[in-house]
Amino acid sequence: MESILCLLHTESNGALARPALEALTAAKTLAADLGDAMVDVGLIGADVQAAADVIAPCGARRFLGAAGPELGEPRYATDAAAAEALIRASGATLVVAPQTSRVARVAGGVARRLGGSADTHITGLQVEKGALKIARWYYRQRMEATLSRLKRPWILVVDSGCVKPWEGAPGKARVEPVSVELTEAARRSRFLGVQEPPADEQTIRPEAELLFVAGAGWTKKQADGHTHVPDAEKLILEFLKRTQASLGGSKSLVDISGEGQAVLHFMTHLNQIGQTGATPRHPKGLATCCHGEEPHTVGWRFVNERRAVNRDPSCGWARGKADVLYVADAFEVMEKVNALLAKQD
Ligand SMILES: Cc1cc2nc3c(=O)[nH]c(=O)nc-3n(C[C@H](O)[C@H](O)[C@H](O)COP(=O)(O)OP(=O)(O)OC[C@H]3O[C@@H](n4cnc5c(N)ncnc54)[C@H](O)[C@@H]3O)c2cc1C
Repeated sequence: MESILCLLHTESNGALARPALEALTAAKTLAADLGDAMVDVGLIGADVQAAADVIAPCGARRFLGAAGPELGEPRYATDAAAAEALIRASGATLVVAPQTSRVARVAGGVARRLGGSADTHITGLQVEKGALKIARWYYRQRMEATLSRLKRPWILVVDSGCVKPWEGAPGKARVEPVSVELTEAARRSRFLGVQEPPADEQTIRPEAELLFVAGAGWTKKQADGHTHVPDAEKLILEFLKRTQASLGGSKSLVDISGEGQAVLHFMTHLNQIGQTGATPRHPKGLATCCHGEEPHTVGWRFVNERRAVNRDPSCGWARGKADVLYVADAFEVMEKVNALLAKQD
């Protein structure tokens, strides 16, 4: 019989982020599908009581807490020690955890210490004839595999966006403290802080309804023989401001900054979508001035509804990559779209 630990960590403010609540849904669904599995919740953080209270009515058998000032910071040595202690305390055979940088960094090492296995980027958990099979993608989201493993504990790191986050009214949880042995060496690395763009320049919004992709065409010579990069910047930023869409870019566009050409100043390699970029999960996507070549569109694998604006009726989007292709000038289209959005304000 399997037993499940849902392994979560708090954020710097003590709360649980969306990926953690999604992992909780995944753990509970897995327990229901297995029929007879119990779920424990294991929490790592500086102080985990508030987070435990938020998910108190989730039906967990036990809430185990590895808490302390050293565990509030993301750091391999302390996170791995805490995860190991929680898994040992629960005796779980299956550990469900969210795909965050903190978890992904330690999953393999912790599995090794416990003589188990770990898989990351899991997109589905299915139970067939009482046995668990996981789904995950390989070769930059081109091939999906289902696989199972006999080794236990099996650490299952679940990608965000695959299930709905757990929801429920908060309550009062009884947290059983789990002590974590931390040597001096485990505290040696220090977490100094997070560097991120100011809020109004933050263009990557994983939870946005819409992914807006800008391609290199925005910076190319237009019908009048000139480039119009400042106009492109204005149109794109206004659209993002009004819609709160997430901004993606093609490789050609994000690479241009390294080639000394006129660039969209807010576009970085972090925005790149595609085979060598990101594969985000948004319900809808709109590509503009982007050709829609396979290495780019492979990053749209999980975008449900795809539309594109391109002057070229034979571009890649026209060949089965988009649901709708508007053959039009993106400068004109986005100006009109922004004007329509302005009317709604
Ligand atoms: C190993 C490998 C990995 C790669 N990984 C990635 C990846 O991760 N992501 C990625 O994006 N690419 C990747 N590429 C590159 C990819 O093959 C393409 O070269 C790239 O996606 C092209 O970018 P683009 O469509 O923006 O630019 P272009 O090919 O230059 O296309 C610009 C488009 O803009 C249109 N256009 C211009 N002006 C307008 C206008 N006013 N209105 C409407 N349309 C207009 C043009 O018709 C054209 O279709 C990879 C390539 C290789 C070999």
